[in-house]
Amino acid sequence: MKYIDETKIRDLLKEAKKASLPVIERILNKSRSLKRLSLQEAAMLLAAEDPVIVKKIFAAAAFVKDAIYGRRVVLFAPLYISNICANACLYCAFKSDNPLTKRRALTIDEVKNQVEWLLRRGHKRILMVAGESAPGGRTNIDYYVESVKAIYSVEVGPHRIKRVNVNCAPLSTLEFKKLRSSGIGTYQLFQETYHEKTYRHVHPKGPKSDPDNRIGAIDRAFLAGIDDIGIGVLYGLYDWKFETLAMLMHIEHMEEKFKVGPHTISVPRIEPALGVSFTKNMPYKLSDREFKRLVAVLRLCVPYTGIILSTRETAVMRDALFSLGVSQISAESRTSPGGYSSADNNQNQDIQFTIGDQRSLDEIIGSLIKHKFIPSFCAACYRKERTGEAFMHLARPGTIQGKCSMNALITLKEYLDDFASSQVKRIGYKFIEEFKKSLNKHDLGTLSKFFADIDKGKRDKFV
Ligand code: SAM
Ligand code: SF4
Repeated sequence: MKYIDETKIRDLLKEAKKASLPVIERILNKSRSLKRLSLQEAAMLLAAEDPVIVKKIFAAAAFVKDAIYGRRVVLFAPLYISNICANACLYCAFKSDNPLTKRRALTIDEVKNQVEWLLRRGHKRILMVAGESAPGGRTNIDYYVESVKAIYSVEVGPHRIKRVNVNCAPLSTLEFKKLRSSGIGTYQLFQETYHEKTYRHVHPKGPKSDPDNRIGAIDRAFLAGIDDIGIGVLYGLYDWKFETLAMLMHIEHMEEKFKVGPHTISVPRIEPALGVSFTKNMPYKLSDREFKRLVAVLRLCVPYTGIILSTRETAVMRDALFSLGVSQISAESRTSPGGYSSADNNQNQDIQFTIGDQRSLDEIIGSLIKHKFIPSFCAACYRKERTGEAFMHLARPGTIQGKCSMNALITLKEYLDDFASSQVKRIGYKFIEEFKKSLNKHDLGTLSKFFADIDKGKRDKFV
């Protein structure tokens, strides 16, 4: 596979097992100063099995998370627009040869209805998701562009979607340019596995069967001018340590060629899916403990990159991972086109996989507040063009933190005023008052002005 040197990864992981405690401690000290780690250092952290060292890794990850992102956690909802797919990925219910999945591509009016539903719940950020269109098929780039525009066009009172990120199949540079001009935020594409033999095995047919076309899509997206890129591994397909180091190698390529790494990294674990036997016997299934280690090591290796966790994970797991490095989560997700109008996602015959965290947005916000995290619907960086390299300059020394906390509090107050249940309102306002005590005079003054504006009915303000 392009950009991935499998022999080097194996050698690094083998060598890393010999790392002594003082060496690991030196690496952890380096990451506490928010410096990016080398592949060799990353391998040593991944290889560490001793519970005492793992505990130190967790503590360092919590420190870095707090230093860069503060207490805020960004919330979004996925919006599946189509489950029609030309590929046959062994792990996915949307695979073309799955007769159990009911196929559907939303009409533009249906897309708007789904967005209206999400806006009424208080959502502000959407990840648009689609299966891959067959060549000449209807669910192509024009359909994506029309859908993105439709999402932005919906208004519910003063509320609108602030940012549409997109997770769709690889496109050509020209198609990426079209997608970019529709106003998307992040373009997200998971390599699934960086291990070529496994890649070819689990993607037996369709356009996705070419691993180089997929990894090359990230380059094409950059070349088309999309500078917020999200990457990821589908954990469970191959050895998690290999995959993580390979993903870091991919990031090195991006940094070398485009001077900027990914905006976000996603860490999906394979979930059971209707008509999919692959998930029943997975030799590389990650334990919860390994999963926590993986998130912590990623947080240390690429401190300035957002880590996204989806509702594939249970509420308990998600709550544990906020401190270790996760900065964005999906909430109240449905993984089927039109799913927001149905009662129980996991019962439907058009879903992609089952959901681990079935809580409502309100419940998730309540839980974040109880754990002293600030739920955020902010999209200020993207709207102020603090993207790509500009974002990295802000994020690297940790200066984004002050802005993030402030914007998170502003969006939280808007949510509490307009959407929250009485119980969440009660704990939310109290939490804001508590948080204010930690602000300096200048920030407190700025925040008070924003809050006064919200009280007058103004919405969607940010620093
Ligand atoms: N079809 C496009 C593609 O594959 O890139 C984009 C959308 S696909 C619906 C989004 C992601 O879902 C895939 O990249 C894959 O990592 C993930 N996925 C597929 N099957 C899954 C499963 N059974 N459990 C968890 N995640 C899964
Ligand atoms: Fe299609 Fe994506 Fe599912 Fe593969 S993962 S079958 S490409 S929707």
